[in-house]
Amino acid sequence: MSSTSPFFINGAPAAGQGGGTVEVRSPGTGERVGAIPAASAADVDAAVRAARAAQPAWASTNVWERAELCHRIGDELGERVDELARLQSLEQGKPLAESVADIEEAAKLFHLHAEDAVRLHGETMPSTDSRKRMFTFHRPVGTWAIITPWNFPLLMMAEFVAPGLATGNAHVVKPPENTPLTVLKAMEAFEAAGVPAGLVNIMPGGGQAGEALVTHDGIDAIGFIGSSATGARIQAAAGLKRSVMECSGNGPVVVLADADLDAAARAAVDGAYLCAGQVCCATERVVVHADVHDAFVEALLREAGRVVLGDPFDAETNLGPLNNEGVAAKMDRHMADARERGARILAGGGRRSGMPTDLYYEFTVVDAVPEDSLLSREESFGPVVPVITGRDDDDLLRIANDDKLGLQGAVFTRDMGKAFRFMEEMAVGQVVVNDSNSWWDVNMPFGGAGGRGTGWGRIGGKWTLLDMTDVRTGVISV
Ligand code: NAD
Repeated sequence: MSSTSPFFINGAPAAGQGGGTVEVRSPGTGERVGAIPAASAADVDAAVRAARAAQPAWASTNVWERAELCHRIGDELGERVDELARLQSLEQGKPLAESVADIEEAAKLFHLHAEDAVRLHGETMPSTDSRKRMFTFHRPVGTWAIITPWNFPLLMMAEFVAPGLATGNAHVVKPPENTPLTVLKAMEAFEAAGVPAGLVNIMPGGGQAGEALVTHDGIDAIGFIGSSATGARIQAAAGLKRSVMECSGNGPVVVLADADLDAAARAAVDGAYLCAGQVCCATERVVVHADVHDAFVEALLREAGRVVLGDPFDAETNLGPLNNEGVAAKMDRHMADARERGARILAGGGRRSGMPTDLYYEFTVVDAVPEDSLLSREESFGPVVPVITGRDDDDLLRIANDDKLGLQGAVFTRDMGKAFRFMEEMAVGQVVVNDSNSWWDVNMPFGGAGGRGTGWGRIGGKWTLLDMTDVRTGVISV
C-alpha cells in the first residue's frame, strides 16, 4: 500500500491533510505493515462533500445500471481474492483460509445485492377514498457514514456499501484504525469497476475521525458495526440520524439433554476458534443440561484437540493470534476473574509464550463458569468455550436470556418442539438449530434482538436494502 495515498476521496487516492498517524502492525509477527495519516476533520469534510455531490445523479440512474456496477465490483474483487486475503491476514492476524473466505464473501455480496435491488418493489394499498390511488416505492436515504470493526475489515464494509450502491446511496467509510489497508487496497477493484467518483470514499482513522464523520451535517445516515459502547456513544452524538447498528454479542449455545453431543461439541469449538473468537456471534457462553454435562465436556475436550494455534500463513493453522493487545488484555481479565471465582480451566487459559508476538492465545475451555463471572456477563471476544450448567429446559432458557447481548444463539436438540420453543423464546436476533452459533449466510437478516443492546437493523439479503432506503408513498387523486 502506498504511504502517499492514505485516503480515497472523490474517486481517487488522496493525500489529505491528516490528523495524526495510524500505524498498522502485524499481530502475527509484530512487523510494521504500514503507517498512514488518520483523517482530520477537514478530510472528513472533503469526503462528505464529494459524496453529497455525487449521490443525486447516482440515485437517478436506473436500477439495472446500478446492479451492473455492483456485479463489476464483485468480479473485480473476485479477481483480487489472493492479494487482498494475504494483506488482510497480515494486518488482521486470521488464518489465510479464513481471509480468502471473507474476501470471496465480500465479492458475493456485490452480486447478491445487485440481484436484490432489481427486485425491490413497492406495494399498492386500497384507500378509504374511491378517488385515491396509493402506492409505495423505495428511495435511497442519501449519504451514509459507514463505521466498521477490525475483525472482518473488507467484509463489513461490503455489507453496507454493496446494498447502499445498489439502491442509489453514497458512502464515506471509516475503516478501523488497526486494519485499514485491505479496504484501501480494495479501492483498486472499485476503480477498475468504474465506480463513479464520490460514491465510495475511504477515511481511515480512529474514534476522533469517526465522531467527526457521524456528526457531520452532510451525513444522512449511519451504518455502524462495532461494540455496543461505541454504538451508544455514536447514537448520543449523532442524534436523530437514521442508523443501522450492529453491535456486540454474547450469544448462548444451548445444549439440551437429547442433543447430539459430538455435533454440539464440534460446533462449540468451531465457533470459538473462527477468527480467534473475535466474531460477534462466536461461542461466548455454552449452557448445557446437567444430565449430559460430563459427556459433553468430554466431547468438547476431544474436539479442542483439533485446534492448531500458529502462524496465520501456515496451512495447518486454524487459530491465529488475537488482533490487538486490547482484546488479549480483556481475555486475561476474564480468565483471572474465572480463576478467582472457582471456575475450572480444562484447556489453555492464557497467552502462549515463545511466539513472535504476545497475542497468541491458547485455545481455552472453562467449566463450572459462574453466571455472574465476566466470561458469562461480558463478550469475551477470544478463543474460549465457557461452560455453564443448567438444571432443566426452563433453567437453560433463563440462563440463555439472562444477558442483554444475545445477538445470535444456537440450540442443540433432536426434538422439533423444543427447537421451536428455543427459537421463539430466546432473546436473540437469530437462532441456529444444531449448528455453530458462528454460522451465517449472506442471504439471512442478521442483527440484534430489539432493545437489548445489540443494535438494530439487519445485515444480509433484501433486509439491508430496506434499511438503506426510505419508503416513499405516492397518493394520486383520480
Ligand atoms: P469498536 O466499537 O471499538 O470500534 C468500531 C469502530 O468504531 C472503529 O472503526 C472505531 O474506530 C470506531 N469508533 C470508535 N469510537 C468512535 C466514535 N466515538 N465515533 C465514531 N466511530 C468510533 O469495536 P471493535 O473493537 O473495532 O470491534 C469489535 C466489536 O464489534 C465487538 O463488540 C463485536 O461484537 C462487534 N461486531 C458486531 C458485529 C455485528 O454484526 N453485530 C459484527 C462484527 C463485530
